[in-house]
Amino acid sequence: MSSSILITNTTLFTEPKAPLLHDQWLLCRNNAIHSFGPMTSVLDEAEAVQINGQDKLLMPGLINAHNHCAMTLFRGLADDMELNTWLSDYIFPAEAKHVTPEMVYECSKLAAAEMILSGTTCVADGYFHEEETAQALFDAGMRAVPAQGVIDFPAPGVPDPAKNIAAAEQFLLKWQGREELITPGIFAHSPYTCSPQTLQSAKELAKKYNAPFFIHIAESKQEQQLIMDPQGTSPIRHLASLDLLDRDTILIHCVWLDDEDMEIIKKSGAGVVVCPQSHFKLASGIARTTEMDRAGIPVGLGTDGSASNNSLDLFREMDILAKSQKAKTLEATAMPAHAVLTAATVNNAQILGLPQLGKIAPGYKADLILIDIQQPHLRPFYNKDLLVYSANGADVDTVIINGRIVLQERELLSFDMAKCMEKVRNLAAQI
Ligand SMILES: [Zn+2]
Repeated sequence: MSSSILITNTTLFTEPKAPLLHDQWLLCRNNAIHSFGPMTSVLDEAEAVQINGQDKLLMPGLINAHNHCAMTLFRGLADDMELNTWLSDYIFPAEAKHVTPEMVYECSKLAAAEMILSGTTCVADGYFHEEETAQALFDAGMRAVPAQGVIDFPAPGVPDPAKNIAAAEQFLLKWQGREELITPGIFAHSPYTCSPQTLQSAKELAKKYNAPFFIHIAESKQEQQLIMDPQGTSPIRHLASLDLLDRDTILIHCVWLDDEDMEIIKKSGAGVVVCPQSHFKLASGIARTTEMDRAGIPVGLGTDGSASNNSLDLFREMDILAKSQKAKTLEATAMPAHAVLTAATVNNAQILGLPQLGKIAPGYKADLILIDIQQPHLRPFYNKDLLVYSANGADVDTVIINGRIVLQERELLSFDMAKCMEKVRNLAAQI
């Protein structure tokens, strides 16, 4: 038996560069978008679940291309610190002590609640005990690209770093092809926490399974020096020399790039994901996003983990990305709203290797969000630029993921959020 959802009387945002369509209907059948059109030609679908989209805007679900979901436990634990102090004195010790399978499961679920409630339908994650993240996001009804962390230190779940690649392979074996919503990957932490040999082995493993390969790279000025000193080259050229850059590699941060680095990334086809609020908060700098975008490098957007942002609301992130680029370039035309919306939808889908996401078109996955635009800060609604400069996650009314309604009129339907928050409260009490 097929299940259908018919949304009527709504304003349609099909893709960032297309004009808005008013008084529309849209039909989802099973897990895909079937068709849409003007209300004058609305289909008679009595069997379908009906949603009245009056005074709402229907758009593709947002995609968060970089998160560490379980780090919701560390939100607000250590603010206003340099990246190195933050990592070495607070985050790594807290992780060594408190990251358990239960913690990863519950705290990832908490992240899922926050993301769904702010319009994110798909997330890419990197952490430890990643099988728990994958399970939590799946149980929450989200689409996800969870990637097992690889690092040359004793890590939660992998006390012997010599086994980090084997642990990552176990994760891929467990999750690849298991659930449509879950695409497993590999996350090499960074070039300063992974040896060249570890990086190459992790990438080889990703290639063997045709899985996405993520890495934090060129995040801070200090990292430049950490890599420059032993390798005599920039972090990006270091990765290129190890043959790690291709279309299935996703470069997280890329704040510190020179012209040659940009050229290398462009030629390789690798995607870049920027996390502007995390870059601001950790004083990493402002990425050359406008130049990358104009050069044709696929630029995506992520929030990074809750400890360095501290919000998982991509509407906030889009606003900051657009404005930070104007401040950096001194050009008000830099990273216009449609480019930022493209980063959070179409580009993130492409970068993560999920091309059936990020747009409203027949055959695309039914990952959709309805925004309540009948609100003082969203009136009048001349165009979709408002989604970047005025909207926030709390304006999201309904969320559909893979043809299933997971949030309706701001009520989370896919799991018991109160129970999850209670469990996280108990975990936090132990810190
Ligand atoms: Zn990160």
